Amino acid sequence: MKKIHNTIEYDVIVIGGGPAGMIAAGRAGTLGASVLLLEKNPELGRKLLISGGGRSNFTNAEFDTRTLLQKYGTRAKFLHSPFSQFGVKETFEFFESHGMETKIEAEKRAFPKSDSSRSVLAALLRFMQDGHVVIKSDCEVREIIPCDDGYTITQKDGATYHSRKIIVSTGGTSHPETGSTGDGFCWLEKLGVSINKSNAALVPVRTRETWGHKLSGLAFTDVKVSLVVDGKIVEKKIGKILFTHTGLSGPLILNMSKSVGEAMEEGIVTLAIDLFPKEDRGMLDDRLQVLLRQNLNKKLKNVLKEFLPASLVEVALEQNKIIGDIEVNALRRDDRTRLCGWLKAITLTPTKLMGRDKAIVTSGGIDLAELDMRTMESKKCKGVYVVGDALDIDRPSGGYSLQLCWTSGWVAGTHAADIG
Ligand SMILES: Cc1cc2nc3c(=O)[nH]c(=O)nc-3n(C[C@H](O)[C@H](O)[C@H](O)COP(=O)(O)OP(=O)(O)OC[C@H]3O[C@@H](n4cnc5c(N)ncnc54)[C@H](O)[C@@H]3O)c2cc1C
Repeated sequence: MKKIHNTIEYDVIVIGGGPAGMIAAGRAGTLGASVLLLEKNPELGRKLLISGGGRSNFTNAEFDTRTLLQKYGTRAKFLHSPFSQFGVKETFEFFESHGMETKIEAEKRAFPKSDSSRSVLAALLRFMQDGHVVIKSDCEVREIIPCDDGYTITQKDGATYHSRKIIVSTGGTSHPETGSTGDGFCWLEKLGVSINKSNAALVPVRTRETWGHKLSGLAFTDVKVSLVVDGKIVEKKIGKILFTHTGLSGPLILNMSKSVGEAMEEGIVTLAIDLFPKEDRGMLDDRLQVLLRQNLNKKLKNVLKEFLPASLVEVALEQNKIIGDIEVNALRRDDRTRLCGWLKAITLTPTKLMGRDKAIVTSGGIDLAELDMRTMESKKCKGVYVVGDALDIDRPSGGYSLQLCWTSGWVAGTHAADIG
C-alpha cells in the first residue's frame, strides 16, 4: 500500500465484511495483493453469525454442480463459470483446511461440526490473516468516486482510500439491523450499473388463527404443506416447518413464501398442513387406536402426549371440541376420526408475508447480465466487482445463499488480485 496526499492506496478494496467480502478479501490477499476490508459495524459477519439459527448452514452438500445449479432457477445459466472455479467441493476443502470440521444433515444441509457459526467466522478470519488483509471496522463507506486511475472510496468520517479494484460486498436489504441496508445499490446505481428491484424473497408468513400462535417454537420435519387457492391445491411441498408467535416459518414455508405472496393477490388462500404425510387417515387412526387400547383407563390428554407434542395436544383437543380430561374409554369414535382428519389437514390462513426486515434473503440486486460472470467484474464499470447477496439471484433456503457468497467472493478475489 502507498500513501498519496492523505489517501491510502491498496491493490484491492473490499467494502462489506460479510461472508462474501471476507472470502474475497482473504483470496486476494493470499494471492499477494495488498487488501483493505472496510466494514461499518464494529465487528465482521453479523448476519453470518445469526445464519442457520446460529449454526450456519454454510452450504448444501450437492457435489454435482449441474444438479446444484437447478436450485438457482433462471439464474443457473450464469453460474456455470464461477462454480467451475469454486464449487461445493472447494467450499468443503476450504473450511476443512482452515480448521473447521463439517457435518451433513437432512436435505444435504452442511453445518460446522461445532454447531456454531462462530467456527465459520473463525475460518474466514484465519484466511484473511494469512492474506495480511487490513481490516477496518466501524468504517461506514459513503461513496465510490471514479477517478482517472481507479476509484476513491470516501468514508463517513472523511477518510479516503484509493484502488484500481473495488469489491462491493455490502449484501442485500434483509435484516438491516445486521448492517445490510442496501448502500451498495445506491453507489452502483450512480456508477451506471442496473439494479433489479429488491423484494423480500424468503420470508415467514403471518397467519390469522390465534390458536396457531400457541404452538410457537414447535417444529415438525417431513410434513406436507399444501397451498390452496380458492379451494384448489396449487402447490405441495414436504419439509420442515416452524410455528411462530405470528404464524409459520421454517425452510419449507420460506421456500413457499413467494408462491404464497403471489397467491394472495389471486384469491382466498389457505395452507393445509399434513403432519403425517407417510400415513393415510385410516393408517393414522389405526395407530392411534393401538395406543388408546393400551391405556383405556387413563386420561385422554395424558395418553395423547405419547402421540403428539404436549402443546399440540392442548390445541388439537380444543380445536376439535374434545374434552381432554375424559378417560380414553369414553372417547367417541367420530371424535377420534375427526382428530385424525384434523392432524392430516391443519388449516391456517395467511394474512401477509412478513416484511423485508424478516426476510432471510431479498430478491433483486445487480443484474447478472451486466457482470462478466467469469470474474464477477461489472461490464460497465471496469475494476468494480460485485458478490454475495448484492447479486440478483433467487434461491431456496438450504445453504445455497452462503454457497453463492463463497463462489462469487472467491472468484472476485482471484481476478481482482490479478494486478498485472
Ligand atoms: C436469519 C437469517 C438466517 C440465514 N441463514 C442462512 C443459512 O443457514 N444458510 C445460508 O446459506 N444462508 C443463510 N442466510 C443468508 C445469508 O446469511 C446471506 O446470504 C449472507 O449473509 C450474505 O452475505 P454477504 O456477504 O453478501 O452480505 P451480508 O452478510 O449482508 O454482509 C454485508 C456487510 O456489508 C456491510 N456494509 C453494508 N453497507 C456498508 C457501508 N456503507 N460501509 C461499510 N460496510 C457496509 C454490512 O454491515 C455487512 O456486514 C440467512 C440470513 C438470515 C437473515
